[in-house]
Amino acid sequence: MKKKLPFIFAISCSAVFLCICGFLAFQYRNLDRRFQKLEAEAFHLQEDKAELNEELEDSAARLEDREKYIAGQKDYISELSEQIQDFDEDETEDSEHTDRTGKDGIYAGSNTGNDPYPDLYADKDNLPVQTGQKYVYLTFDDGPSSLTPKVLDLLDEYDAHATFFVVGKNNEEYAEYLSEIVERGHTLALHSYSHNYNQIYRSVDAFLADYEKVYDWVYEETGYSPCLFRFPGGSTNGSSYVVRNIIREMERRGFTFYDWNVSSGDGSNLTTSQNIIDNICSTVGYVDNPVVLMHDGRGKDATLAALPTVLKTLSEKGYDFRSLDQNSEPVQYRKSEP
Ligand SMILES: [Zn+2]
Repeated sequence: MKKKLPFIFAISCSAVFLCICGFLAFQYRNLDRRFQKLEAEAFHLQEDKAELNEELEDSAARLEDREKYIAGQKDYISELSEQIQDFDEDETEDSEHTDRTGKDGIYAGSNTGNDPYPDLYADKDNLPVQTGQKYVYLTFDDGPSSLTPKVLDLLDEYDAHATFFVVGKNNEEYAEYLSEIVERGHTLALHSYSHNYNQIYRSVDAFLADYEKVYDWVYEETGYSPCLFRFPGGSTNGSSYVVRNIIREMERRGFTFYDWNVSSGDGSNLTTSQNIIDNICSTVGYVDNPVVLMHDGRGKDATLAALPTVLKTLSEKGYDFRSLDQNSEPVQYRKSEP
């Protein structure tokens, strides 16, 4: 019996050891399963978190777009308010003028044979009167720039014609696009050489000297003699006395000027592409003879980005995109006579 004791003890120890091992193995399997389950849950939570983050980022981006849009609309509203103020303002005349305009309002260069700006005369364009009911005039100011050829390509896609009111100063390197504007069937028109309000609205003389410079530039580059122009900032800019005399003198030289009755609002750098699309597409339908102000000068990327949607939306609504010519009905805030 004594001899069997160690044997029994060893068997018991082994049995206990095996039991412990079995228990531990069982626990290990349990723990492993729980661990795997937790791992799967953690993975799902991670996925959910990533999705939530994405949604959060999307919402933040939408909010930012919305805020930019609202800032753009606010700016557009203040632009329109300024225009209304310009209309309402008491037009007190500045009688201390320093140009050659006499008391009768006639500019001294007129018909005296002593014209200091002999080049600055417009030819008659003799274009046929455009027919059709539903039309819109898209106009692009302040170019040419690196954006101009892209604008021209987009217009071609929709068989659209437009009017480009060009500026000379700082745009000389893009002079090659002037001919392209003409060759691709658009109207090339003048918008001053310097675009410097303080300079050009000082007097009729200052205006004519500046315009002869841009006229000569366009004529030398293209052989085309423009007959339309737009005042920088519109005809409500400058003193009404000087501007009326400018209008009288430019009309005597054969030029017609165009303001606009639909603004894209793209003059402001706060304007987003969505602002531009909405400002144009929601207004054109309410205006007779719509002339839309846009810009293709440097930095107007928002306008370029908006243009495909503007062209698509308006062409789906049945609009014909026309370029302005001497037969087009003028849109003018100021006239030569008060
Ligand atoms: Zn301009």
